[in-house]
Amino acid sequence: MLILRTIINMKKIRKKSKQRELIYTLVKESKAHPSAIMIYDTLRKKMPTASMGNTYRNLKILVEEKRLNCREYEDGIEHYDAITAPHYHFICTQCNSIHDFDIPEQNQIIKIAQKKTKNTITDHTIQFYGVCEICKNK
Ligand SMILES: [Zn+2]
Ligand SMILES: [Zn+2]
Repeated sequence: MLILRTIINMKKIRKKSKQRELIYTLVKESKAHPSAIMIYDTLRKKMPTASMGNTYRNLKILVEEKRLNCREYEDGIEHYDAITAPHYHFICTQCNSIHDFDIPEQNQIIKIAQKKTKNTITDHTIQFYGVCEICKNK
């Protein structure tokens, strides 16, 4: 009986993580920093049984496992990013698109800031704003 239950549990876990891996791949392949709804829309095409609730749950686990970053942007929506190493973003003020901005991390800023405070600084963010190429050509 115990063995049978273990097998059932294993099947459950495997089924869940298959969907989670697919979600991870979707975020990784998308350069658009998608929201949960965008991820769910793409996921549903590949896995019609997927639900919004499961998508949220799996995204939460992926963030907890530090495989995905999640951050709320100016549009008030949480966006997911498969690049978890520090990096900067360019945000289009017209279409709200989020682009990875490829300049090296400014480690000096943390050092300079640390000198100004007794608080311990562990992180910083810099965001660049403007009009993206697509909006500019409209
Ligand atoms: Zn734009
Ligand atoms: Zn990013």
